[in-house]
Amino acid sequence: MGTVSSIAQTDGPAHSSRSVKDHQTKTPLLPAGAFDTHVHVFDPKLGPYAPGRAYTPEDAPLSSLIAFNEHLTQDGQVGNLVLVQPSPYKTDCTVLLKCLRDLQSRNINGRAIVVIDLDNATDRALQEMHQLGARGIRLNFQADGREVNLTELAHLLYKAARRIQHLPGWMVQLYVPVWVWDALYDSILELPVPVIADHVGGALGRSKLPPEFQESPLSQPGFSSLTSLAKQGRVIVKISGLYRCSSDSVSAYSDMKPIIESLAREVPDQLVWGSDWPHTGDGAARLKNPDIDMKEGFRSIDNLGIYEV
Ligand SMILES: [Zn+2]
Repeated sequence: MGTVSSIAQTDGPAHSSRSVKDHQTKTPLLPAGAFDTHVHVFDPKLGPYAPGRAYTPEDAPLSSLIAFNEHLTQDGQVGNLVLVQPSPYKTDCTVLLKCLRDLQSRNINGRAIVVIDLDNATDRALQEMHQLGARGIRLNFQADGREVNLTELAHLLYKAARRIQHLPGWMVQLYVPVWVWDALYDSILELPVPVIADHVGGALGRSKLPPEFQESPLSQPGFSSLTSLAKQGRVIVKISGLYRCSSDSVSAYSDMKPIIESLAREVPDQLVWGSDWPHTGDGAARLKNPDIDMKEGFRSIDNLGIYEV
């Protein structure tokens, strides 16, 4: 098994020289007790990846995640972590639930967004997930880089919401291209649970926008619907994965600044932050991957640099 080296290496504590350098040159910016609302664990020792997955990631065990979080936190203590079920495990949450139990045993506050088989998961299984810290279901429409089928998406959204509406605090997390918020606007207003818009709701920075929207990124289709849904308390926008929204890595994705500033102005109470550790690659590149067992490397991301922008 090899590594797709073009996407570079894992960030954070696995590369201690990098961590030390960050500590020397940049101030950790996470306040004590902050939530990192979007992280993943990839650990084949705890359970196998699902057949038919879009990619096989490098290993990213829980111990490395904890070290990464400590490295970002002002007091050097691990904060609150929201584990998001990553697509290579599909609907098998075994590894994620093992990690939640592990966090509990370490007295670390762990929460989770799970992926379930909406037809076959039992209410009892959901209840057990709730006890361990799960608070939402993820619908990911960009893991394999394919187009979004709106009819299917609206159907799944309702179905997911119905499965979780009796569970306190649960939400549906959606990762979709930003224009989809126009199409789903009415459905989301009627949904019995709020929605988390993953990775800035799919909004794009200038570097990824078509020419007609580059001068006015706030006018990209779907962004005003996203903002309006957030204003009405129906959507929480997750500020995360900026490298999915922008290709301007040289400036630490600073072309996302107008988007994030607009959200901070309009819906400051509807925003959460997630590091997206360990920074997996993107769906479009995977359609060409001939060998599913080849481990795909993680992106090298300057997390502290992104905060400073
Ligand atoms: Zn992610």
